[in-house]
This record gives sequence, structure tokens and C-alpha cells, in this order.
Amino acid sequence: MIADIESGVAVTRKMLGKDRLDKRVMAAIRQVPREKFVPPDLRHAAFRDGALPVGHGQTISQPYIVALMTDMLELTADSIVLEIGTGTGYQAAILACLARQVYSIERIPELAQAAQLRLKGMGYYNVETRCGDGYQGWPEMAPFDGILVTAAAPFIPPALLEQLKSGGRMAIPIGMPSMHQELMLVTKNQRGETHSRSLLGVAFVPLVEEK
Ligand code: SAH
Repeated sequence: MIADIESGVAVTRKMLGKDRLDKRVMAAIRQVPREKFVPPDLRHAAFRDGALPVGHGQTISQPYIVALMTDMLELTADSIVLEIGTGTGYQAAILACLARQVYSIERIPELAQAAQLRLKGMGYYNVETRCGDGYQGWPEMAPFDGILVTAAAPFIPPALLEQLKSGGRMAIPIGMPSMHQELMLVTKNQRGETHSRSLLGVAFVPLVEEK
């Protein structure tokens, strides 16, 4: 899996503007047992470099994308991070290895509950999860040094932009379901101005809007 991530980075190095990801990110990927986050019948495929179905029509992202999006946030041991789309909790566990505190929101109650039990059971005590609408973010815990959105939105949700700290970084796939999506890096400078740039084309499940 590590070799697959490294070769994915090598192939996309021009778009990423770097040859390798942060060593700490790669150490976190080595440390978190991905097989414990995928359904039992798919454990044999846990280390394949692809997304896998995890029930309720949702997927656990490809390891290369998990590593890349984590790297984009440039976290430190003091960072407070918000993840949208807890899913299995795998991405949250990776973030928990690198940041002080992780908050993660999932809209499907069964997934949210299973992820919470799994993360606590595995000892990731610096992750707090809740069931809710990711478009609203988690205003009570804002602002965040990093925001990582693991489902594709048609636009950058304004609440998430607001909840990003000055100097903070957000990784978010933008685009419509089953259409072309772009993985965007959104940064906010000390004056509160935001800037975004696209890194590469991706395929995510949709960030569902509650009607
Ligand atoms: N990060 C996950 C994979 C996420 S798949 C992991 O590591 O396993 C995307 C997830 O986003 C799905 O679980 C989906 O239910 C959730 N999602 C979709 N729309 C959402 C919304 N508006 N708010 C919160 N979660 C949402």
C-alpha cells in the first residue's frame, strides 16, 4: 500500500508540486490498521489502492487520496481539524495521529455510530464524531486549522470557509456526482482572504444537501 501511494505521488508530482508526501503522513498511514475499518468480507482487499464499498452506498477512499488530502492540510501536533464525511472513521484515525483534536461529521446515523464505537474501541480518544449535516460545519468548535471534506460538493460550503482559521487549509473535492470533480486546496491568509487552486481530478461520492 505504501509503494502504491508513493507511485501515485510520483505519477502526479507535477500537479502536486512535490515529489513525496510528508514523512509524518506516511508514518500515520503505516500506523493505522486499515483492515479494521473495512467490512470483514473485504479485508483481503483492504490494502489495494482503490476505494472500497462500506455499506449505505458509501465508500472508504483510496489510500493514495487519503494520504494526499492529509498531506495537503500540513498539520502540526497542535492542529484542530474538522472532517466532513466520517464514513468508516479511517481518515479520522489518520488525522488523529497527526493533530491535537479531530472533529468529524457524518450524515448517516448508522455509519456515524459504528465509526464512533470503532474509533473509541481502537483508542483514538482525540476524535469526536457527530451525526449531522456537513454543509453547516461544527460552529461550536470552530475555527479549524484544517478542514478535510471526503465527499464532493458542487461548491465550497460557506459555513466551512467561515470556520477555517486564518492561515488554515482545506482539502475539498468540488464537482457534481459522476461528473468531473477537482480536488481543491483552499487557503485563508492572515487577512482572512481565501485562495483556491485545483490539484487533480478525483471521483468521490456526493456531499448530500439536506432539503
Ligand atoms: N472519510 C471516510 C470516507 C467517506 S465517504 C472514511 O475514511 O471512511 C463520504 C461520507 O460522507 C459518507 O459516509 C457519506 O454518508 C458522508 N456524507 C455525505 N454527505 C454528507 C453531509 N452533507 N454531511 C455529512 N456527511 C456526509
